[in-house]
Amino acid sequence: MRRSKVTPEMSSHESRLNAFPVFMKVEGRSVVIVGNGDEALAKARLMAQSSARLTIVAEDAEAELAAWAAANDARLLKAPYEAKLLAGATLVFAATGDEALDERIVADARAAGICVNAVDRPELCDFFTPALVNRAPVAIAIGTEGAGPVLAQMIRARIDRMLSPSLGRLATLAASYRAAVERLLPKGAARRGYWNEFFNGAPARAMEIGSFEEAQVAADILLSRQGEIVGHVALVGAGPGAEDLLTLRAHRLLMEADVIVHDALVPEAVIAMGRRDAERIGVGKRKGCHSKSQAEINELLVELGQAGKRVVRLKCGDPLVFGRAGEEMAALREAGVSYEVVPGVTAAFAAAADFELPLTLRGVASSMVFTTGHDLKGGTLPDWGKLAISGATVAVYMGRSIAADVATRLIEAGLSPDTAVAVVENASLASRRLFHGTLADLPALEAREDLTGPVMTIIGDAVAGARFDTSTALAVHDRETVAA
Ligand code: SAH
Repeated sequence: MRRSKVTPEMSSHESRLNAFPVFMKVEGRSVVIVGNGDEALAKARLMAQSSARLTIVAEDAEAELAAWAAANDARLLKAPYEAKLLAGATLVFAATGDEALDERIVADARAAGICVNAVDRPELCDFFTPALVNRAPVAIAIGTEGAGPVLAQMIRARIDRMLSPSLGRLATLAASYRAAVERLLPKGAARRGYWNEFFNGAPARAMEIGSFEEAQVAADILLSRQGEIVGHVALVGAGPGAEDLLTLRAHRLLMEADVIVHDALVPEAVIAMGRRDAERIGVGKRKGCHSKSQAEINELLVELGQAGKRVVRLKCGDPLVFGRAGEEMAALREAGVSYEVVPGVTAAFAAAADFELPLTLRGVASSMVFTTGHDLKGGTLPDWGKLAISGATVAVYMGRSIAADVATRLIEAGLSPDTAVAVVENASLASRRLFHGTLADLPALEAREDLTGPVMTIIGDAVAGARFDTSTALAVHDRETVAA
């Protein structure tokens, strides 16, 4: 017996849509929704994203629906449904939850030549409503012909994340430049180049930061330069390692980058979130193996920016925390290359989250110190040492190799050797390891040759509030050894 199989050849026919998307003009036109409850409210919320005039026919409107209508300038008609209420409507929604009534509404709408949608009754619908990404005037409508509302919402969420919240305003600005661009730039490459740079370059960036006027200035400059591409460097925080701790803005910039310049600590999975054909340049900087000096990195960023590249300088954690971003920004400023900074989740926050450790704790710790601890090697106690003694929570970056110095000096200065300490290797990653102990145990960290990943140490009384059931002891105490 032969069984029919779905083959790729069949797909050309099967890829035809039974419901075809169009964009319908609704400005100022009447849309009528019939129904009292949640279903009606959901449709009302969706349609309220348009400039249509909304009428909700609801004899016994539920409180939430009535409140929504009042707050959103929708007309609420507290009357029983009648066919004549549909007169003049462009679209009608039957959302009463009453099968017979919905069928009647559908029949009335059709008799009047009005397109109608009946909630959860695809067989009665003339049209379906999409899952909508709204960046008015830009709209992305997702439809599945009713096959999967969950799927549609999932796709919607993904697209929503990809697009800047300011895309709509940018599109509005673009519309106001269309005539000037057509007048001043020849058709073809020059005009395409202009719009490419408009939507990806300086005007888009200015709009993202929230200024319509600055975006306008950038669009003017671009026009006077005939659309010539201008480089830009974004100093972007990659977060502590887990790729989903990247910010949406960081992700968007990575997807638009021509070049990604990254540190050794940024995991491959995070870099892979970037545009596939972006050039990647690793600039090393792990303890002991500097593949490029800071001066060389500064120079590289300036060169790339001046060559008109969109550069993402990807740094682990937050770029402004022990990231030498100050030097990179100074070099870019001096060279006149435009740049921006995108914050990231710093390692201390990721480590605290892994430990469920409150960095501030009412009545215990009301300040935080982020330090490398390297200033503890000198003769005098740095100012933050006094903060530690007065209860601040101390996060030590790059502190593994000087753990003993940190512990000894803080104890000498008066911090109790019993002060709680939490240590996290590879915070936020699946490979993370958590250790706990006291300040007296901290020197043991230096001898832990098995810790090959980045290590964050957190010291302070607030650490005692952390969760210790997934962490192991930092040092084995003599009395435990004896007892064992
Ligand atoms: N800009 C980074 C810090 C760079 S300094 C930030 O904001 O996090 C590098 C140090 O950060 C490492 O030596 C380590 O102490 C810490 N670090 C970075 N990522 C870490 C991680 N996933 N887990 C633990 N510590 C981390």
